[in-house]
Amino acid sequence: MKESLPLLPTSVIGSHAIPSWFYTALEAIEAGKYGKTDKRELYDDAVSIAIRDMERAGLDVISDGEMRRWHFVQSFYEKMEGIEPEEPLRRVGLYAYDSVPRYRLRERVTVPRGLGVVEEFKHLKTQTDKPVKATCPGPLTVTIHLRDSSVREFYRDRLELFWEFAEVVNQELKDLVKAGADYIQLDEPSFAIIPGELKEYLDLYNRCVEGVDARIAFHICFGNLGSRPRGKREYGPMISYLLDAKCDEYVLEFANREMHELEICRELSRERDIGVGVIDIKSFYRETPSDVADRIRAALEYIPPEKLWIVPDCGFFQLPRWITVQKLRNMVAGTRIVREELTGSPD
Ligand SMILES: [Zn+2]
Repeated sequence: MKESLPLLPTSVIGSHAIPSWFYTALEAIEAGKYGKTDKRELYDDAVSIAIRDMERAGLDVISDGEMRRWHFVQSFYEKMEGIEPEEPLRRVGLYAYDSVPRYRLRERVTVPRGLGVVEEFKHLKTQTDKPVKATCPGPLTVTIHLRDSSVREFYRDRLELFWEFAEVVNQELKDLVKAGADYIQLDEPSFAIIPGELKEYLDLYNRCVEGVDARIAFHICFGNLGSRPRGKREYGPMISYLLDAKCDEYVLEFANREMHELEICRELSRERDIGVGVIDIKSFYRETPSDVADRIRAALEYIPPEKLWIVPDCGFFQLPRWITVQKLRNMVAGTRIVREELTGSPD
């Protein structure tokens, strides 16, 4: 699919901004005011808006905005069986990592009908002619709200649970390919968040993508709930492990770290492409096209142009829609400036 794209292809990480009316509708659902058809229309409309915003911004590869997911991973727990909700640790004040729902296990967890990513993808394909990217969280990230103490009641340790979910993710990705996906991104921000053995985490990642016949992107970031990071914001200690990842592209955040560590891209781009985050999705500051062009030129110091993809740092679900749209447009405009410098044409 890359062959059909311009130099410096532009894309997103996955999630789009959530419009105000969508929050109101979710409150109505919570209050029992929506029927099945109302809900379907709501989610389909939200996906349509996300797609149109991305198309109008001029992105080369789009997503469905992950509009059917809630706070990146929370809706996946509805797909799991054998768990029950627990009270959040904190219910008052700002919504952050200690406010999220938690689940305890009643038995070993199963995901009998898959994670639902395939259904999201199939709908997306009916709504756009643009190249699309399907996104799926990895086993560390998708299980992050399962309480450790209850995991240990039914599993030897958390790693055993992760390995079972690696199979679930692997099946989901293979089903995505069957449904026509040729570009899939695995999201594993928890690489930087859950303490543990990076070598084993990498083995888990590689199991997820084993036998998946598509272009594979590997997104690692440092967390974005409430626009806050959760992990130590450094890729440096992970590099030797990342080099063993079976992927065609790394997708990494740089903009909110003022492009810190760009030099790691020299080694990472020897055999893979790199999606470099040039838009800070945690800031209300709207990068100008000129800011974006400067960041791309900085990345080009370390990455050959034919291996560089232009993306935001992470998903947009924690920013308002009006800012998101402007950021996307300016990302594309900045990319066109550098593309013209390199090729003589902005397209
Ligand atoms: Zn991210």
